[in-house]
Amino acid sequence: MDEVYGFYNKTSSETLDLAKYFKEYNDLTNLKSLAGLRSNRNEKAGILEIMQMDVNDEDFAVLSEYCSIENLTIPGESFEKYDDTRLGNRKGTYEVKEIPKDVNLETLTKLKERIGLPQRPFVHNLKYRSEICIEPEKVETFKCNSLMEPGNEMLVFVRIYAPFVHQHRLSSVYVSKIFTTHIVAILGSQTLAELRDIISCTSDLSIAKEVSANPDAGARQPQAKEVYKSGFFYIESTFYNDFRDPSNMDNSEVIREWAKKRNLGPFKTASMESVTINSLSVKFGYPWVYQHQGTCEHLLVFSDARLIGPSDNLTISSYPRIHRMRASSTKYCMVCGVFAASWITTHNDRLPHDPCYFCTTCFHSFNYIDGKKIENFLAYPVPFGDVAQD
Ligand SMILES: [Zn+2]
Ligand SMILES: [Zn+2]
Repeated sequence: MDEVYGFYNKTSSETLDLAKYFKEYNDLTNLKSLAGLRSNRNEKAGILEIMQMDVNDEDFAVLSEYCSIENLTIPGESFEKYDDTRLGNRKGTYEVKEIPKDVNLETLTKLKERIGLPQRPFVHNLKYRSEICIEPEKVETFKCNSLMEPGNEMLVFVRIYAPFVHQHRLSSVYVSKIFTTHIVAILGSQTLAELRDIISCTSDLSIAKEVSANPDAGARQPQAKEVYKSGFFYIESTFYNDFRDPSNMDNSEVIREWAKKRNLGPFKTASMESVTINSLSVKFGYPWVYQHQGTCEHLLVFSDARLIGPSDNLTISSYPRIHRMRASSTKYCMVCGVFAASWITTHNDRLPHDPCYFCTTCFHSFNYIDGKKIENFLAYPVPFGDVAQD
């Protein structure tokens, strides 16, 4: 497949065997003793344990001063400091005050180039402004039996992109912008099926059944994800199918047959519920695919991986979790403009808008008289809590 998508190799890492990589890393370092630091309430004793040394209070105070992070600040520093690189809003990182002249740093050279570019408002500083950081839930760890040991488990971050319309170079189909909908943090010991379960997509929540004749009964239809449960991940030449339900189908079969005729592949298949994240070998930064509901395809990118540290939430049941997500706008009723849309109509003879969004009250009052449908239209319930993207 590198012949087709080799372009992305330029921006991605080499293929990494996650389990092997972190085992070698763990063997090299003394990270196991992070567990000691966490369990040791006395911070000084914990630090000395990791350093494998013993010093008196006076020497410890001197060492603390020498090693203080404050010493990394220089007079006239260009950047504002931020406290937490993982959870904070990072816009402050790029807010330049003054660039020192005689400092030969590549970062400053690039920064000068970037400032010299035509100003595009809302580009640089908005990188994270459209995303919401989700604070980990506060769990009272002493109540939990299944706690992880810091340094013993890996945390992998996966970016999930919104489905988009692929543009054929000869077609004039409108191409939607590709953007991340959420970033998931998942443990190495968890499976791809658990990753699938936390990916939220409107097409899973939809009820793709026309119910204008009897809308009240129609709204109680099962959601698409309860009916069409098949889906797969495509990662490193392998299709990982969801076979948790015996009726699920191998959606990759038709793709593999198509590829065979074009001498693409070979491809392997596996079941996503039997494959753990740490058993994967992946390229970081390389786009892979999650497909569900037959045609809904999302790009997904492994963006980061690290060992769990003492400051992370150590409760296994808290993962996988949404780490960051894109803020999205609610579709409002196009009649009253006050309430969120609960219904969508198409081919409505009495309306200029196709489709048209309605709240429940406006839907019934505009389209029905004494419960009887007026004129022709098709109606579909909007999924509960729908957050349709513009
Ligand atoms: Zn989807
Ligand atoms: Zn309304």
